Amino acid sequence: EQWDAAVAAVRALGGDAEIQLICHVSPDGDALGSMLGFGLGLRRLGYSRVRATFPGDFRVPDPYAEMPGLELLVPEADSFPEPALVLVFDVASESRLGGLAALVEAAPVSVVVDHHASNTGFGTIRLVDPHAAATSVLAEQLITRLGVPLDAEIAECFYVALATDTGSFKFDMTTVAVHELAARLIATGLRPGDISRRIFDTKPFGAMKLAGEVLGRAVLDPAAAGGLGLVWTYATLADLARHAQPPYVLDTLIDPVRSVAEADVTVLVKEIADGQWAVSLRSKGAVDVSRLAISQGGGGHRLAAGFTGHGAAGDVVDTVRRLLDDYLT
Ligand code: 5GP
Ligand code: MN
Ligand code: MN
Repeated sequence: EQWDAAVAAVRALGGDAEIQLICHVSPDGDALGSMLGFGLGLRRLGYSRVRATFPGDFRVPDPYAEMPGLELLVPEADSFPEPALVLVFDVASESRLGGLAALVEAAPVSVVVDHHASNTGFGTIRLVDPHAAATSVLAEQLITRLGVPLDAEIAECFYVALATDTGSFKFDMTTVAVHELAARLIATGLRPGDISRRIFDTKPFGAMKLAGEVLGRAVLDPAAAGGLGLVWTYATLADLARHAQPPYVLDTLIDPVRSVAEADVTVLVKEIADGQWAVSLRSKGAVDVSRLAISQGGGGHRLAAGFTGHGAAGDVVDTVRRLLDDYLT
């Protein structure tokens, strides 16, 4: 009945109602793709006043610089001050909304579309399914229930989102339904090779050199986590500055690290401010890293999670090692 409520909330609006879309800070392909694809769908339905935004540094990562629907994006400060409806995409908790959390709280109706197991249950209407491979799976269902046919632009947004969160259709949740959705998206005329090259396989030379350094200093601790093994590395703001790279180039750097056979758990510690670190955790299956992240005020999924750490990079990793020991005993 949450789905019916969401459909009714949209249908109750006049064509000139102000609709604000929001996704999480440091948006990834799923956050932007589900939000912008849905926004384009609302435009097709005749809603003329749709704005999309995200909190914090208002920069669209280069891999998404050609995503359809970017014209809907406005800086946080240009959000509708009193929207009739707010829709929130790929956001597990209000802490991922920065200053926009107040806008969600104040809205007469807020629809939260998300797939994080750690979702805190905020918002008045909650379309939260931890079994969905990406938020875009849910965004596509909602737009379809609203009667919008998929077109190539909407499909590209949802495809980027789906490809991002399934690791190019490699992860566990890559089900028959995921491939069926991908097939319907591709059938609108998408070129998956072009999209994949753009979002996964294109980076500046400096980003490649930076990756080399960060990977080069990785540490393997095969005895950690009761012998399950831990591999970790870190990147500082100085590293980014030396190679003139923005922080988002580190977003996918955990993937080569977690390919290490000797470790079940992978940690990438990324400096976001002096003594403050965005900690990315990955597991191959034995450890539910979302539980570790939640215990530190973060969140995520069973095999991919994160939190904000404090101190020196080595201290943050020590904390994770201790959490792992506690987890396993
Ligand atoms: P990543 O390591 O790629 O940044 O994030 C992996 C997963 O953990 C994503 O689903 C993301 O939403 C979640 N996550 C990462 N950092 C945080 C955090 O600080 N707080 C919360 N609540 N979730 C996080
Ligand atoms: Mn996301
Ligand atoms: Mn997601």
